[in-house]
Amino acid sequence: MSQPVFRFAPSPNGRLHLGHAFSALLNQQMAQELEGKLLIRIEDTDLIRCTPVLEQRMLEDLEWLGIKWDETPIRQSDNIATYETIIDGLSDEGLVYPAFMSRSQIKAAIAREEENGVKWPTDPDGSPLYPHYDRKLSADERQSRIENGDAYALRLDMEKALQLNDAELYWIENCEGPNAEFGEITANPAAWGDIILSRKDAPASYHLACVTDDAMQGITHVVRGRDLFWSTSVHLLLQQLLGLPTPQYHHHDLILDENNNKLSKSNNDTSIAQLRATGATVTDIKKMIGLA
Ligand code: GLU
Repeated sequence: MSQPVFRFAPSPNGRLHLGHAFSALLNQQMAQELEGKLLIRIEDTDLIRCTPVLEQRMLEDLEWLGIKWDETPIRQSDNIATYETIIDGLSDEGLVYPAFMSRSQIKAAIAREEENGVKWPTDPDGSPLYPHYDRKLSADERQSRIENGDAYALRLDMEKALQLNDAELYWIENCEGPNAEFGEITANPAAWGDIILSRKDAPASYHLACVTDDAMQGITHVVRGRDLFWSTSVHLLLQQLLGLPTPQYHHHDLILDENNNKLSKSNNDTSIAQLRATGATVTDIKKMIGLA
């Protein structure tokens, strides 16, 4: 059997918190147990929120925690040309369209549908699905709007993608989902609607960049927070469309605050930097997250 490869893939759009410490340390522990490698991937395709300074601090926090990586970290912003080529390929198959609706237009369109008695569907994170009226725009209309400078995102036409790929998709879950799902999990990408593949300020979406790099880095074990459990459905579909392998998945517990809310990068109290500054040791941190 080839050597297992794990990755920790944080986004430098804020300071790392206890939840990231848990995920990084768990990845390291599991990689050691299986005599595997641990890679670091910097997920910085959000060109506005991710900065080199935050990246530097993120790596310092990881080093302080005792995380050791086996290869030089890769940075997704260095791979934009690859993602663009991949999106072009999906586009050549007719699976991608420019979506022009702004946030307020989306809201208004859904409100109109609901006034007419339609119960508008939401995705597993609770956001309304994109009203995909502009799937139907003609090639000429698209071209002239783009030439006109109208802002757009590139979206996957989920209906066509599912027609092209009618095989049942499933992944192996080695930990559990939000409702204790375990083992063979059937993916349900349709629940996410027409996902974004790229937009102006993020030339590759998380989903697209993540599956591309998991494959390029030879990742065999994805260990990440349970909040991404249902995103795996989209990852399975993209892997299938792009002919990429599916790793094993382990969606771990989330570290919650005293009010049972997910930790946020904007709350300084639980940031590794703040805890360090107030004298916490790595052992203290491990105790706080149940890894001592
Ligand atoms: N970049 C994502 C985050 O910081 C993690 C994605 C993943 O592990 O697949 O939440």
